[in-house]
Amino acid sequence: MQAQRKYEEFLAEAAVINDLGKAAALLSWDQDTYMPEGGSQGRGHQMATLDSIRHARLTSARMADLLSALEAAELPADGVEAATVREARRAYERATRLPSRLVEELARQSSSARLAWVRAREADDFGLFEPELARMVELKREEADAVGFETERYDALLDEYEPGATVAEVRRIFGRLREEQVALLAEIGDSSVKLSDAPLLLGFPPAEQAAYVASLAAAVGYDFGRGRLDETIHPFAESMGLNDVRITTRYDHGNLATALFGTLHEVGHALYEQGIDPAFSRTPLAHAAGLGVHESQSRLWENLVGRSLAFWQGSYPKLQSAFEPRLRDVPLAAFHQAINVARPSLVRIEADEVSYNLHILVRFELETALLDGDLAVKDLPAAWNDRYRDYLGVVPTSDLQGCLQDIHWSVGLFGYFPTYALGNLMSVQLFEAAERHVGDLEGAIRAGDFAPLLSWLRKNVHRHGNRYSPAELLERATGARLDAGPYLDYLRAKFGGLYQLSPARTGA
Ligand code: ZN
Repeated sequence: MQAQRKYEEFLAEAAVINDLGKAAALLSWDQDTYMPEGGSQGRGHQMATLDSIRHARLTSARMADLLSALEAAELPADGVEAATVREARRAYERATRLPSRLVEELARQSSSARLAWVRAREADDFGLFEPELARMVELKREEADAVGFETERYDALLDEYEPGATVAEVRRIFGRLREEQVALLAEIGDSSVKLSDAPLLLGFPPAEQAAYVASLAAAVGYDFGRGRLDETIHPFAESMGLNDVRITTRYDHGNLATALFGTLHEVGHALYEQGIDPAFSRTPLAHAAGLGVHESQSRLWENLVGRSLAFWQGSYPKLQSAFEPRLRDVPLAAFHQAINVARPSLVRIEADEVSYNLHILVRFELETALLDGDLAVKDLPAAWNDRYRDYLGVVPTSDLQGCLQDIHWSVGLFGYFPTYALGNLMSVQLFEAAERHVGDLEGAIRAGDFAPLLSWLRKNVHRHGNRYSPAELLERATGARLDAGPYLDYLRAKFGGLYQLSPARTGA
């Protein structure tokens, strides 16, 4: 009885903390979409104010008492209540372990390093960014030490984005990806088959693209009654609550792929958030299990559905008529090849499925070396270029196309990059589990019926929020632990076919 009353008190407090976070999310969405430039300073104050109120509630003596009381009450270990308390404890510990001096310094350093990064990009001069990045690395070391870790410092940072993951496990998995994806990319380069993306470059009016991608989003199951689609330079998905999950996309007149796959990607993120159990609303479980799982959902819809032949066997006629007459004379096979051209490039966000993980490996290896002190910040550009040559066979001629291309490090996102590759691996493991459980999944996708796939994902991934750790969620859904094998087999089979690689060399 006493425990029940405490639990209700705790939920009421957690709901306030949730609301403060979601209000900040709305301010952030507005800042990135419709806010006039003049609003930026005021918006900065508003967001900092909300954040400090939220931090105070999250780390209050009252919250500490409630958590201790509920932990002492020994709630059933496998129940929702225990998971809810566990997640609140996790947030509490992270928030209290960082001294407020460090939190403030990280916030200040993020804005000054981000500004330096923008200037360095404008001047294409890494030197302008170097001292700011060096300071950021020092602060991230301090952060990791304050959070605490068992074996490696990087674990403390990785755990924020992918709870329970360790650098040792990521290194082991990435070692295998490096070996096999580098080899596959080289074989594709040597193949006499050359695919062309010309059908995507025929010039597509943005208004027609907007109408088409909105219908595509609705067709796969994105609920516009609980979301909206806007246009931004950098597409994103933002949740203001389980019934308000918004996405943005970008229209490039010269390349249809940008909007097509950018939209499917963000739709995948949004389907996850829209699918969390309504009973978890405003509780610490109303979140994704981790960024890797989140990315698995975006990549699943973008690649395993959106870049598959089955999908376009059903959807291509609609696409052709939406953009009449441009694709009238482009056969389905040529279109499918166009959206699957594998070609090493310098830019992560333009990467194909075969090379994407290699872009992530470069960043992971460099950020762990920076953090460990094995790599000096001044040597970053050269180390970056060396790895691009070794893994992708291309070398940046400027840092703009090299180590200055991503915003992440400037705003202190260390430990974040691996989740992109982990998400790719999970996307195939989950899709194959869905194939095993849904009769003729490919047939349904070919028929434009996405309900069987979506309901399997709802039941096995989405609705659980962060009740389970990423590892546990994956194991419950697929019966297996995180594994590079299925992803590598998928790449081999798909691109081996597209590029007519010899079975002997592909190991098939
Ligand atoms: Zn994503």
